[in-house]
Amino acid sequence: MENEGRQNPWALVTGGGRGIGRAICLELASAGYFIVVNYRSNDEACEQTLSMVRQNGGDGEALRLDVTDRKECLDSLPSLFKRLGAPSVLVNNAGITADGLFPLMSPDAWDSVLDISLKGFFNVTKPTIKAMMRKRAGSVVIMSSASGLVGNKGQVNYSAAKAGLIGATRSLAAEVARLGIRVNAVAPGLINTDMTRQLAKNMGPEMVKQMIPMNRFGEPEEVARVVRFLCSDDASYISGQIIGVNGGMV
Ligand code: NDP
Repeated sequence: MENEGRQNPWALVTGGGRGIGRAICLELASAGYFIVVNYRSNDEACEQTLSMVRQNGGDGEALRLDVTDRKECLDSLPSLFKRLGAPSVLVNNAGITADGLFPLMSPDAWDSVLDISLKGFFNVTKPTIKAMMRKRAGSVVIMSSASGLVGNKGQVNYSAAKAGLIGATRSLAAEVARLGIRVNAVAPGLINTDMTRQLAKNMGPEMVKQMIPMNRFGEPEEVARVVRFLCSDDASYISGQIIGVNGGMV
């Protein structure tokens, strides 16, 4: 059943509609992958990602799917794999923040952030890894965060979720290495996207200087290039690693 559909390799990017995910879609498309762009609800942003992919000579399709919804994932991912074969690349990128000091944090702010990062990781990665195992090849990249490495005030939920992904990366990498599948994580610092737009407005240049040795936010493309490297044969002996992309912050 595997590889029924596509001759050229394809990549599944969760949260590919905007921000870092969009840059990853463009970068992987330029490396020759057909891109399945997953997103939750912003149809317009996803369409824009796909048209940018096509303008650059690539191709792809949209997958509107809430990664926290187990039933939805089980309904749609196996049929996607049946149609396209196992993906060569999975990028677990979907994520949200719901910041606030811990004593004031609502249960919903805790649950929603952990659900997208950890439940979402399980719901998408488990069926994907099983498909990759049958092919005995594949590369998984997980979007963690500097916050998961060093912690951050107001982000107890987000740090817990992103640190959890680091543990998952290392354990899964050890499980599947002998099957030809590599699993790595990227831990960005502060990157210019919708997620950080307000923060960027609030932080004056002095605060940016204090926090980030390179004195600036990163760009989504600077993360995407690392993801592309991790998915490529140039990274053939790299697995179970957490790569910081943070302007020297951590
Ligand atoms: P954005 O908010 O710009 O984009 C988030 C993307 O995730 C959107 O495409 C959104 O879909 C999608 N998404 C959100 N929830 C779900 C869901 N339940 N199911 C499927 N898709 C979903 O985020 P960034 O690009 O800034 O962040 C991308 C990743 O990088 C996240 O995991 C984030 O935690 C991580 N990161 C970001 C940093 C930063 O400074 N920006 C720093 C460190 C890590 P839709 O468009 O439909 O809403």
